[in-house]
Amino acid sequence: MNIFGAPHPRSRIYTKPKSYWSFWSDLLLGRFNKGNDVQKFERALAEKFGVPEAVCVSMTRVGIYLVLKNLIKPGQNVIMSPYTVADVVNMVVLASGVPVFTDIEQRSCNLNPAEVAKLIDKNTGAVIATHLHGVGARIYEILALCRQHNIPLIEDAAQSFGGKAKGKRLGTIGDVGIYSLGMYKNINSWYGGAVVAKDSALLNKLRAELAQYDFQSPIFILKKMLKGLATDLLTYPLIFQPLTYWLFRYGFLHDIGWINRQVEIELDLELKKEMPANYLRRYTPFQARLALSQLNQIDADIELRAKKAALYRKELSGISELVLPPEENDSKYIYPVFAVQYQDRKKLLKWLMRQKRDVTAQHLKNCADLESFSAFYRDCPVARKTANEVILLPTYTRYPDSEIKKNIEVIRAFFGR
Ligand SMILES: *Cc1c(COP(=O)(O)O)cnc(C)c1O
Repeated sequence: MNIFGAPHPRSRIYTKPKSYWSFWSDLLLGRFNKGNDVQKFERALAEKFGVPEAVCVSMTRVGIYLVLKNLIKPGQNVIMSPYTVADVVNMVVLASGVPVFTDIEQRSCNLNPAEVAKLIDKNTGAVIATHLHGVGARIYEILALCRQHNIPLIEDAAQSFGGKAKGKRLGTIGDVGIYSLGMYKNINSWYGGAVVAKDSALLNKLRAELAQYDFQSPIFILKKMLKGLATDLLTYPLIFQPLTYWLFRYGFLHDIGWINRQVEIELDLELKKEMPANYLRRYTPFQARLALSQLNQIDADIELRAKKAALYRKELSGISELVLPPEENDSKYIYPVFAVQYQDRKKLLKWLMRQKRDVTAQHLKNCADLESFSAFYRDCPVARKTANEVILLPTYTRYPDSEIKKNIEVIRAFFGR
């Protein structure tokens, strides 16, 4: 079939034809912002995740901002992982919080509870625990610490929608959980997020504030949709295998900056002095309809990706040079990718490319080391090392197991196994 010997792409976004055509049909029929579908999605999500209620926001990061603004006093500290999306740090700062970067554990890439314990003090306003790569943080230990000091615990579950720890959905264990419904996530409504919380007074405050905003503009969503369309076309196997792959492979093997930047998603590393105009907007009924149509699929998708992750784990766990994500018996992680770490990441990635595989590095930075956040600098040696070592092995639902086996074979060969 594949005469070029090219692999399947490293990632695909979760789109359906509906993701595109319903945008135009909703606009034509004048129902883009009409209908009670946001409320419907909020209720369906709350019911599925076993919480009293949920509130949709324009983006996860905006949810983090709104929640912090209501939970902390200006100038209070926010304990958080430095290994996350830089714009999340901006939201903490814009909510008048002071980010306190707290080092992570290497295997999970998430907050180390022992480090959290060291940094909690009387000026701590909140703790944000991120469940990165779909792998749960040690959330029950962090929760115990927060309870002991009467500090609210916020879970950034943007990459863990649907995952569980001890049978409970990630995001519903602390006081507040925030999910992403953005383009690169397992429910894709182009932009969006959802907040769940124990305290309905907090959610009511969010609702009251959101009611003052305009709906997100179709133009803003359209721009993202066009990026999505380009991504869908370029990663469509009939285009990817004869064309896209070879271009990006060439760029990567020859260190050509402008080509490599096309596939990086974490390029906005600036300190934001003010909230961008398009952030404080309402989630639209159009987006909610898209999200609602995907909600029932997520658990089946998680099962599928868990099997793919298990394949990698079984065959790679014998390679002591590789650091694999942890696995907990009573937990169910969603594995949007299978994130492994190796100290000479570049060398392994180039080997994979030369062997005609398509695998990429995690481009998230250790925000504690970024120039833009130097006012909040803290030495986080594990995050520094990890940010240079994470490799994202594909697990998306359309990725064939035969490709996983090839990845494994090539990695084993690299290590002489
Ligand atoms: C994607 C992501 C976000 C931001 O989500 P948006 O909906 O794009 O704001 C925040 N935190 C983590 C860990 C993410 O992966």
